[in-house]
Amino acid sequence: MVQWNILLIVFLVLFAAGSISRWLLTYINVGYLRLHGRDVPEVFQGEIDEATLSRMSDYTADSSRFGSIEHFFDDMVTLIILLSGFLPLLVVLILSWNLNFILSGLIFFGILTLISSVLDIPFSLYSTFVIEKKYGFSTITIKLWITDLIKSLLISMILMGILLGAMLALIHYAERSWWFWVWVVFSAFQLLMVWLYPVLIAPLFNKFEPVQNEELKDAIIALMEKVGLKTEGVFQFDAGKRSKHTNAYFTGLGKTKRIVLYDTLLSSHSSDEILSVLAHEAGHWKKKHIMKQLVFTEAASLGVFYLIYRLMDWPLLYETFGFAEKLPYVGLLLIAALFGTVSFFLTPIGAVVMRKFEREADDYCFNLVGTTKPMAEALKRLAKDNLANLHPHPFYAWFYYSHPPLAERIARLQQMEDKKAS
Ligand SMILES: [Zn+2]
Repeated sequence: MVQWNILLIVFLVLFAAGSISRWLLTYINVGYLRLHGRDVPEVFQGEIDEATLSRMSDYTADSSRFGSIEHFFDDMVTLIILLSGFLPLLVVLILSWNLNFILSGLIFFGILTLISSVLDIPFSLYSTFVIEKKYGFSTITIKLWITDLIKSLLISMILMGILLGAMLALIHYAERSWWFWVWVVFSAFQLLMVWLYPVLIAPLFNKFEPVQNEELKDAIIALMEKVGLKTEGVFQFDAGKRSKHTNAYFTGLGKTKRIVLYDTLLSSHSSDEILSVLAHEAGHWKKKHIMKQLVFTEAASLGVFYLIYRLMDWPLLYETFGFAEKLPYVGLLLIAALFGTVSFFLTPIGAVVMRKFEREADDYCFNLVGTTKPMAEALKRLAKDNLANLHPHPFYAWFYYSHPPLAERIARLQQMEDKKAS
């Protein structure tokens, strides 16, 4: 059984603080929308009618409310699993099978992953087939949804199995330096996945083909040559078979580096707008944002692995949550639970940096294209097509947003254009 001590109290206080903060943030955000949801921001004047505006507000409110319910449920499940004595019983059961320690660890995490995946099913169904359908986004069939679920569960089980197996083996065989070797394996694996994702995993879910519109394709290639970015092709894929949401991205590494456009984006945007979006994306590469993020992630994960290594032998950790033995896989789970309570409060650090990167990429796009008009048009269309929230609470946006709020971002683009004219 769990032991009431200072560690458990600190854990519970942090856990509750995170849950309550998350709920409060959503609450003020929806409240702000209720107050301002009927005003059309200046940059959207004449672009958005009342019906679209109210659909935008309803979509934000519906998905926020649903998100809150889902988080509450997840939090309850986490607490029940950690505090009910279920985990120590599971460990006793697994130990009674007398398996090798790597296999025991894999089964332990496998069972937990399976439980959380099954519990997630009703939420995913409701979100896809009720909310997303109500607002006309969802186009996916139940058959495709089930195949997706099975495929992604299998893939994550295989990838997690490889990584976790390697980690447990290293913990066992390299007692004092495993945190360093685990970091090496994880970093190499991450790079390998970035490299292989576009050619190995993405095609399991979608059909990719070179962009059909030859004129657009030539313009994109010319743009990339102008910037000096080597890519191995411009692709489009059948995003529309799942949802009408629109997007575009750069992906891959070296020989697999490519530009990928949603077919839904191609059908609703002009070529000029698409080129501007890609000029913005190219800005992320040229300004080394991707590299900086990668270096930061690697440095941070080295620190995290060292911290896990230091915490792993702490007897209090195991006693607190009712374990008689110090097992590495149990340690990993408990430390992850502790870190999870803190990581929520670190969200704004990443968000602030990301928003700075977004503004830099917008500047880059302006310098390259010479005008911000198509970019501003593209963002307006994206806002309408995806029913974006035009009135996020400023604190909510500061805390979570990886991009500046749309009205603010478009206003900034227009200012750049006005400055150029004067
Ligand atoms: Zn961006």
